[in-house]
Amino acid sequence: MNGTVPERVDDFGRRARRWIEANLPRSDEAIPAGSHASVAQAQQLQQRIFDAGFAGITWPRAYGGQELTPAHMHAFVDELRGFVNPYSALSVSLGVVGPTILELGTPEQKERWLPPLLRGDTLWVQLLSEPSGGSDMAGVLTRATRDGETWVIEGSKVWTTFGHYADYGLCLARTDWHIQKHRGLAMIVVPMDAPGVTVLPLKQASGASEFCQEFFEHVTVPLDHILGADGEGWSVASQLLVHERNALGGGSVYFAGGHRGADSDDDTNDLVDAAAAAGVWDDPVVRQEVAQCHADTVVSVQLAARVAAGMRSGHFAGPAGSMLKLFTADLHLRRTALHVELDGAGMAGWSPTDDDARSRAMTWLTRQGTSIMGGTNEIQRNIISERVLGMPREHAPDKDIPFDQVRTNQAGRPTDRKNG
Ligand SMILES: Cc1cc2nc3c(=O)[nH]c(=O)nc-3n(C[C@H](O)[C@H](O)[C@H](O)COP(=O)(O)OP(=O)(O)OC[C@H]3O[C@@H](n4cnc5c(N)ncnc54)[C@H](O)[C@@H]3O)c2cc1C
Repeated sequence: MNGTVPERVDDFGRRARRWIEANLPRSDEAIPAGSHASVAQAQQLQQRIFDAGFAGITWPRAYGGQELTPAHMHAFVDELRGFVNPYSALSVSLGVVGPTILELGTPEQKERWLPPLLRGDTLWVQLLSEPSGGSDMAGVLTRATRDGETWVIEGSKVWTTFGHYADYGLCLARTDWHIQKHRGLAMIVVPMDAPGVTVLPLKQASGASEFCQEFFEHVTVPLDHILGADGEGWSVASQLLVHERNALGGGSVYFAGGHRGADSDDDTNDLVDAAAAAGVWDDPVVRQEVAQCHADTVVSVQLAARVAAGMRSGHFAGPAGSMLKLFTADLHLRRTALHVELDGAGMAGWSPTDDDARSRAMTWLTRQGTSIMGGTNEIQRNIISERVLGMPREHAPDKDIPFDQVRTNQAGRPTDRKNG
């Protein structure tokens, strides 16, 4: 780098590869996902990546980034192949919360929160979904009341990925109950160790606890923890979800995670191996299904590049990321279903000492997640039809009346928990 002309992508990739080989553990040293130890490993590796000047490749230098291009970012992720990739555990911090603060935070908030977030020193989560429902995000019941120089937060959130490991959460809360539901919201940064925050891990079918429910009982946070203005919580949350869908679909300009064409061969080889082991690789129907998954994986990479370029040029609106999210979620379900058909019981039971089998079984048990998190497939279809294709909006009888006149499901509020 000479300070004005960016380093060529292939030179950057070679430099990255040399550094990765010398400094990161090989993928067989990865701690199985979902545990505190695996999150701690991801944070430690991100600190090394940051200190070596490879973090936030497209982010501004002012917050610890490198101000390079998405092509450099993808080159780095390609070179990570075969080594422990820390991005899965850090995807909400780096791909969702960080970009939202970068775009909507005040200069002071960005200086305070972004460098430690980018270095992996602090882990961030999103506190959107509530026990009363997740799809109707504008219907949140968590309450933030201004009291002098603080916000007082009361309520409950749920399905928070890594809530029990997090330092901060972006919490969507209602500040005004007397106006239309989208207008009475604020997005507030809540330290997860603040007095009054209770975090309960939820046990999943896989045996792991990756999600939590949180209860907020008279939690006070400073006034300047609001992201955007009071009343703008809906637009902040919508932008947050645009980043989440782009990150999940592989179209983010801030975060490349693990979505790369380079992995498509691995996915296909896994299916081919499973078909061969089941003795059906010569079956023309099986071959056609494997080929279809491979073709769609290649398409998903091209689609991500196309949509990301279209959003940068203004050809596509931000919600276009929903197309990527829907496509990859659907493909993941189809690929996993085919894999389990080929593998049979091998994906439902495994020996505790067989990490590969465990990893395959976890893929099966968690297969629905991608089509639910960040908004379900049905919600993505609504967004694509209404906000990308311009079709008529879904009927919403509660849209134009004050929220305190809307009938709500109060389940999960602190009073319910106290009542058992
Ligand atoms: C792996 C994973 C990680 C997650 N991480 C987080 C997190 O970190 N933070 C967080 O806040 N939440 C998180 N969630 C929660 C997720 O955002 C919600 O589960 C999701 O938004 C759906 O909400 P719900 O489960 O309450 O379902 P509901 O909203 O109750 O929906 C139930 C069903 O009705 C359908 N539906 C609802 N409304 C409509 C409509 N208008 N049109 C058509 N169909 C509709 C839905 O598609 C769904 O099938 C996570 C979920 C998963 C699976």
